[in-house]
Amino acid sequence: MLCPFCSFESTRVVDSRLTEPGDSIRRRRECAGCGNRFTTYERVEGPVVSVLKRDGSSERFDVQKLLGGLARAAGKRPVTEAQLEELAESIAAAARRAGSEVRAEQIGDLAERGLARLDPVAAIQFASVYRDLADLDELDAVVRRFKEEPLAGADQLTFEDAADGAPVPSDSGSNIGRSP
Ligand SMILES: [Zn+2]
Repeated sequence: MLCPFCSFESTRVVDSRLTEPGDSIRRRRECAGCGNRFTTYERVEGPVVSVLKRDGSSERFDVQKLLGGLARAAGKRPVTEAQLEELAESIAAAARRAGSEVRAEQIGDLAERGLARLDPVAAIQFASVYRDLADLDELDAVVRRFKEEPLAGADQLTFEDAADGAPVPSDSGSNIGRSP
């Protein structure tokens, strides 16, 4: 197992436990080269689960992608990485139990409910973004954009922005202090 940070070949297992649904083993590893820690899972290879998206397309269920969506929605909230991993794993287990195909909305609903048990605000953050989007791909894109777009310009926000989110015409407001 190569270290994802430095590709060093030797890692040490610092923690190992069965995940909540009991169908996989989570190992916390520490790189002997750079000292960074990362997580690996070992699980029985189950049936492939497809996620049917709202646009009609489908893709293979990917627990890492789900985990990424959860982590970004729960960013800065008091939720641990381990809690999110456990949630993602239990959703994955539910998906496998459900059969060969699940709907993206079902995954989203489970994620939302699971997050609500951990931290209601994280669940609201997830829901507020996810509810209006087609699937996790879009959630991912939006949350990334929130994070990447600098807050520069936040000092220019007005109550008009907050009211309906409509763009404010660039020629509105006062020109005091501006160069012609
Ligand atoms: Zn390393």
